[in-house]
Order: sequence, then C-alpha cells, then structure tokens
Amino acid sequence: MDFNISEKMKTILWMIDEFVDKELIPLESEFLTISARSLLPVFEEKRKMVRQMELWAPNHPQEYGGMGLDLIEHALVSEALGRSPIGHYVFGCQAPDAGNIEILHQFGTAEQKEKYLQPLVDGKIRSCFSMTEVELPGSNPVMMDTTAVKDGDDYVINGQKWYTSSADGAEFAIVMAVTNPDAGPYLQASMIIVPTDSPGFNLVRNIPVMGHAGEDYFSHAEILYQNCRVPQKNLLGPEGHGFVIAQERLGPGRIHHCMRWIGICNRAFDLMVARARDRIIAPDRKLAAKQIIQAWIAECAADIQAARLMVLHAAWMIETIGKKEARNEISLIKFVVANVMQKVIDRALQVHGGLGMTDDTILAFFYRHERAARIYDGADEVHKVSVAKRILKAYEGKKVR
Ligand SMILES: Cc1cc2nc3c(=O)[nH]c(=O)nc-3n(C[C@H](O)[C@H](O)[C@H](O)COP(=O)(O)OP(=O)(O)OC[C@H]3O[C@@H](n4cnc5c(N)ncnc54)[C@H](O)[C@@H]3O)c2cc1C
Repeated sequence: MDFNISEKMKTILWMIDEFVDKELIPLESEFLTISARSLLPVFEEKRKMVRQMELWAPNHPQEYGGMGLDLIEHALVSEALGRSPIGHYVFGCQAPDAGNIEILHQFGTAEQKEKYLQPLVDGKIRSCFSMTEVELPGSNPVMMDTTAVKDGDDYVINGQKWYTSSADGAEFAIVMAVTNPDAGPYLQASMIIVPTDSPGFNLVRNIPVMGHAGEDYFSHAEILYQNCRVPQKNLLGPEGHGFVIAQERLGPGRIHHCMRWIGICNRAFDLMVARARDRIIAPDRKLAAKQIIQAWIAECAADIQAARLMVLHAAWMIETIGKKEARNEISLIKFVVANVMQKVIDRALQVHGGLGMTDDTILAFFYRHERAARIYDGADEVHKVSVAKRILKAYEGKKVR
C-alpha cells in the first residue's frame, strides 16, 4: 500500500494551504457578519488569483479549462479547501455545481455543453439541483409529485421542491420530475435543465437553516414550479433516466463532501489544540494540562485519521474497481465522516467555552451548517440500513464457526 503523494500534488496542496491561510481565512470574520452577496466582488478577486495560479476548477475536465485531477487527487484538494467555508467556491469546485458539471459532461448534448457546461466550469454562472420535495420523503426520492408533461415542443413542469441549494442567483436548475409515470419506479423521472428565468420558476424563499436564511451561493431555496415551461431539448440524458444519472452523480460527490468534512475536522482540531494550549484556567495552569482535554485531543486525532483513510480508500476503490463495487465503502464513509465531523466540531466548541458559541471563531458556523451532513446525500440511517442489508446478504448460507 502506497501512501506517497506525487511531487505535483505536494506542490498543489502547499499552494492551496498557503492561499487558504493568507487569503481566505482572513475573510471569514466578514463572511460571518455581513451579507454574502456584498462579498461577491471580493470572492471574484480571489478567484482571479486562483486562475492566475492555474489552480482553477481542480476536478473539472481539462478540455473545458479545469485541471482534470483524478478522484484521489481532488479528494486531497477538497480536504485542503474544506478548512474554510469559502474554499471550494473560490477555487470553482463547489457543490452543487461540481456534480452538475459532471453529469453535463457525461450526458449533455453539444448544445447543452456549450450553453451550460462551459460557462459553469468558467465560473461565469452557477447552477442548482432540485430533487427533494416538501411533502414527500427525500430518503425515498422515487416518491415524487413533480411532473413534466409534454406540450408541443415543451415540457410543462409542476411541483414544489425545497432545499434546492444555491438556487438564489443560479442561472439554471437541474430538476428531477416525473415524465414516465407508467414506467417502473426507477425509470419514471427525468432530469431537465430549467433556466431560473423561465416563466413559472418561482423562488419562494431561502429557507432559514439553524436560524440563517443565507443568500446567493450560501443558501437553500424552496421553489414552486407552476406551469414552468422549457423546451424538450433541455432534457438531460435519456427520458426516464433521472435516477440512473443521479447515481452517477452521487459516488464521487460523496468523496468530495467527505474530504471537505475532513478539512473541517482539521480546522476545528487545530483551533481546539491551540485554544487548549493557550487558555489559562488557573494561575499556573493551561487547559491542555487537564487529562480530559488530552483524551479529547487524542480521540479526535484518531477519529480524523481513521475517517480520512476510509475516504481515501473508498476513492481508491471507485477509481480501481468502480462505483458499483464501492457502494458499501461509499455508504460507510458517508455516515462515519459526518459523525466524526460533528463530534470534532462539538469538542472544539466545548474547549472554547462561551467563545465557541460566538461567531468570533468559525466553529459556531461549522456547528450550525454541518449538522446537515448527517441528513443530505442520504441520511445516516439510510446508509446504515443499506450497508447492513448487503452485509447480511453476503452471509447467506455462510457457515461461520
Ligand atoms: C443543508 C441541506 C442541503 C440540501 N441540498 C439539497 C439540494 O441541493 N438538492 C436537493 O434536491 N435536496 C437537497 N437537500 C435535501 C436532502 O437530500 C434531504 O433532506 C434528504 O434526502 C432527506 O430527506 P427528507 O428531508 O425528506 O427526510 P425524510 O426522508 O423524511 O427522512 C427523515 C428521517 O427519517 C429517517 N429515515 C428515512 N428513511 C429511512 C430508512 N429507509 N431507514 C431508516 N431511517 C430512515 C432518517 O433519520 C431521516 O433523517 C438538502 C438538505 C439539507 C439539509
């Protein structure tokens, strides 16, 4: 087993670490206190610097202007960028655009690629992904009320979605809607590209998440599709293949998310250790002298290391054996890393005492916004049940002594 990192990747990661420390972390106090939209020009300046360093769009295809890193290389990049909540955005590899870019690249027509994929990779526009519905379980997305009915050359879309992340300010949504109600459950829905200025695309609100509605990229919208009309040529991939395409999007997406979460763990851990070393709790004592804090530090270090290796192994499985064969590994990392992250953030916050509850450090932001990691892209319980089912099946007829 080879844990070496290539010289090329060492240089890239060093450059990213430097950039995150010098250019992004200093922006965070403003990011936490003023409107995200008013900071967009500042982010654009930083994006320019990233392009000049030739580090733009690390995971996207080279033919479209990205760096074309493979999954493991981008996993390491995602970890480095995850240390700041604005890292991925400034480097042009943020979700949900990253997933949309992947599926447009794989399934888009030449026209769709020119109109949507290229400007997306260039960072000139943003997009969103609109699948989850207000009234039906996102955990069982084949239960879907949103319909897209053919009318002349168009689809007419009706439905109510929510948690369409980053819809505010996006140029288009990729919408999941039922086009083939008579087909089997996994072949009923299609993905359709819906420009957000289409008549009938109504952004109802940015949903307050843990008290913060956010705006622009940093938000999650409720969308009402009311007789929303788009040309049939906006269909992405074959009709009825929405879930087949969604599966393509999820495997690598989970590696990116999980490594971003490891980056968050690293940042929270750094803050925790530094605070423990600095905080005086008695005239001759620092917090770090307490064994309970030492135990937390050791436990968090072990948890982060274990989680990180699991993610890199899952990425390696996807690259060498394939997404389908790596299903268990992908499910395992999804809930393991989300829970490790939650524990590490919580402990780091606890070590900071009252300071941890303020926005004077990044910890409270992570605490608020990353709780959702245990829910989106498959809730913990859903992944646990599906892994357990496969394990139980593998034991069928097996004699164990
Ligand atoms: C911050 C955030 C961002 C999101 N971004 C997007 C986005 O960009 N686009 C999009 O389409 N959606 C997005 N989502 C929605 C997300 O995918 C759903 O919330 C998720 O799929 C869960 O669906 P639900 O909320 O309807 O919960 P439900 O399906 O109602 O499930 C509720 C709970 O029930 C339990 N449960 C459900 N099924 C099972 C099962 N089979 N076995 C055991 N327990 C079970 C789990 O504990 C689960 O948390 C986002 C959500 C959040 C919180």
